Amino acid sequence: MSSFLLHADTVTDLMRDVTAAAAAGAARLAGARQPHEPASHDEIDRALSRIDLDAPLHDFGAAVDELDRTWLRHAVWFHHPRTLAHLNCPVAVPAVAAETLAATVNVSMDTWDQSKAATVMERSLLTWTAQRIGFPDIADGMFTPGGTTSNLQALMLARDECLERSARTPHAAPRPVRAASLRILASAESHFSVSTAARILGLDDDCVVPVPVDAAGALSVPALRRVLADLATQSLTPMAVVATAGTTDRGTIDPLEDVAQVCAQHGVWFHVDAAYGGALLVSPTRRDRLAGIERADSVTVDFHKAWFQPIGCSAVIVRDGRTLRHCAHHAAYLNPADTPEPNQVDRSLQTTRRFEALKLWVTLRTMGPDAIGAMFDAVIDLAARVAHEVRADARFELVCDPSLSTVLFRWTPPEAGNDDAAGAPLAAHASSTTGTGPDAVDETADRWVRPIRRAVWDTGRATVAETEVAGRPCLKFTLLNPQTTLDDVREVLDLIHETALSLTAHDRTGKARA
Ligand SMILES: *Cc1c(COP(=O)(O)O)cnc(C)c1O
Repeated sequence: MSSFLLHADTVTDLMRDVTAAAAAGAARLAGARQPHEPASHDEIDRALSRIDLDAPLHDFGAAVDELDRTWLRHAVWFHHPRTLAHLNCPVAVPAVAAETLAATVNVSMDTWDQSKAATVMERSLLTWTAQRIGFPDIADGMFTPGGTTSNLQALMLARDECLERSARTPHAAPRPVRAASLRILASAESHFSVSTAARILGLDDDCVVPVPVDAAGALSVPALRRVLADLATQSLTPMAVVATAGTTDRGTIDPLEDVAQVCAQHGVWFHVDAAYGGALLVSPTRRDRLAGIERADSVTVDFHKAWFQPIGCSAVIVRDGRTLRHCAHHAAYLNPADTPEPNQVDRSLQTTRRFEALKLWVTLRTMGPDAIGAMFDAVIDLAARVAHEVRADARFELVCDPSLSTVLFRWTPPEAGNDDAAGAPLAAHASSTTGTGPDAVDETADRWVRPIRRAVWDTGRATVAETEVAGRPCLKFTLLNPQTTLDDVREVLDLIHETALSLTAHDRTGKARA
């Protein structure tokens, strides 16, 4: 039985099995001619349900063969140049290899006595990131599984700093009473994990106050001032302002400098969610777009987005490392307060924790930060060129200018009244519901967003995302692959157009039959 446990006598097995696993992945990856092979949920479910988890194969090679048939065959490939749907990146080779190394050693990052040099490496990376941000020497931080957790941890610190301060006021109300008056200010385009964090933190249901955005989707500073003034009249306490550096949809960077100014005036914790845009920290040409981030109290950076790291790899970086004390719990069995060396669990919401920092470390040591930043620059440049094409293409409507590497657009149904396949039924549909005119055209374009996204995905030949901007649905390219070319994207645009035409033709046939 123990022949499957890693020890000195099984290192040959380790090398053989890791090679076999890598080879299976590599073969599928190299052979992937499109983002994924179409297969229904039922089909996949049926194949997997035949596997009896109580009847092991006793052979790793056989297990990999089975995986190849049941999983890898159906994987979605994020390195494929026509995979354009999500903020999930192709990954750096050194980082993938480092994952194996981290698992081999099975470091647990919670205490010094389990991690030693790994703790120093992790702490160096956090300091390095803090320096990139421009934080003072007292900065610190923590690795987390993702931006969702980084935002949670940042807002927990903000809450506890705020409650600690209010506890010192004369005749302070009990903590739950004070907590009920706390508000988090974030733009309507901020990530939903801000609300999730608020719920987990036990704050009031309506504690996240949306701050209106300007036409570009950036948090409006005058509106922020108004909301703050409004809270004051209601005796509510602003606990944190969240600015986003790279919103998930539009890639908008909120005006960090101005928001910092307002936060300083009001003594409010300033959190910057740079889950997406944080990779600008290593951009050789666009670092200036994050100006003002150095004035934040906390920053979320997702290395598993535009830093080309495998999931999960995120960090929350804080201006003042002492604020991390709010996460500390000293358990007798684990991390007595008088340990001379750092126990990272004292700063984390997790206990047992993977050495996620290793892959980033190895990537930096192998490729260097400029190479990562240059890859992010490349996809930002590509987005600009794609937007330029889309704007000039009568088949599509560009929804807004890209800010980072997303492009938002809609398919434009051919004009009502012409002879194109889609014209007549769409006009009929539009006039039956909303009358004719530009609004009707808008509605038809909107109506096709979801079916198009789905139909394109069903082909397996490309993936494109859908979202909503200013209350209207649209299609979205998330460009995170520096290998994707303008021609690849053109191919996808053609596919979208053909798919849309055939959907609308179907629609007409269906209506005719009905
Ligand atoms: C992706 C994203 C998150 C969530 O991060 P996860 O790593 O998916 O948990 C938070 N904020 C922004 C702006 C994001 O784009």
